[in-house]
Amino acid sequence: MVPARRVSKSRKRLRRSHHALKPRNLVACPRCSSAKLPHRACEKCGYVNQKVAVKIATEE
Ligand SMILES: [Zn+2]
Repeated sequence: MVPARRVSKSRKRLRRSHHALKPRNLVACPRCSSAKLPHRACEKCGYVNQKVAVKIATEE
């Protein structure tokens, strides 16, 4: 079997020209200055903002 309407190399490449991924945006945590995602709690210290902080379970 052969596809009825085969997409040309050009059409395929034009479509895939929008598929590239952008690099993740990272910001520095104001408390421990490690890289974190904006609007997410810091993985290292649990800091979100002055009012909100998430407790992080630390291994002993
Ligand atoms: Zn932090």
